[in-house]
Amino acid sequence: MIPIKAALIDLSGTLHVEDQPTDGAVEALKRLRQLGVSVKFVTNTTKESVSSLYARLVKIGFQLEQTEIYSSLTAASRFVQSNNLNPYYILTDDARKDFPANDSANEYDSVVVGLAPERFSYEYLNEAFRILHNSKGTARLVAIHEGKFYKTKDGISLGPGCFVKGLEYSTGLKSECIGKPNAYFFRSAMPDGLKPEECVMIGDDPNDDCLGAMAIGMRGFLVETGKFQHELYDKDALPKVSGIFKNFSAVVECISKTLN
Ligand SMILES: [Mg+2]
Repeated sequence: MIPIKAALIDLSGTLHVEDQPTDGAVEALKRLRQLGVSVKFVTNTTKESVSSLYARLVKIGFQLEQTEIYSSLTAASRFVQSNNLNPYYILTDDARKDFPANDSANEYDSVVVGLAPERFSYEYLNEAFRILHNSKGTARLVAIHEGKFYKTKDGISLGPGCFVKGLEYSTGLKSECIGKPNAYFFRSAMPDGLKPEECVMIGDDPNDDCLGAMAIGMRGFLVETGKFQHELYDKDALPKVSGIFKNFSAVVECISKTLN
């Protein structure tokens, strides 16, 4: 097996669920670093700014640098800046901190949607709809990601994807998706000088984490500590990922074997 030199690691559902690390994850991350594997945390979490995410991970025991976190918010903010957009944001107040300020002298020319449960009301969505509709097709609909659902303390909860799809449906526009499973997101998160075959993506979403990364040649390892529900799949209909593991710790064990 080709040695794994870099690991892109999903956060929610993989390293932690809300304020709890998954079983053995704090120790397993230390071990992964000791093995000399380069680490990057790649997340579609759009509710929290990178600095809040970093503070939360440190508080629950993980050792990391803030610069090791590559979030779809970071990528989307760069997208807004490089395209010089003046978006109407459907984001939490915290996520909003990662984005440039609005230019109040000019009209909105785009809508940016992230996971913002308190903003997914008729009022906000209708405002977004009007901006897109009234632009006669010139405004852009930017989806930080199109996640269907995610794991929360009290079970499985709705992601931003259906709100993005709803706006597409009513306006006839196609969204531009920034985060996982976009190939460009994975490529831009990869350390310089490595080939995709030397990298692995570890996550709890078969499609957005594993298959997305596998599409550019990485390995995609799926963990069972988050949204993936093994019992919902027939044995022969399991996702075609590179491996399915009980938890992050079991993945690190597997990576160590590729290095021997
Ligand atoms: Mg996840």
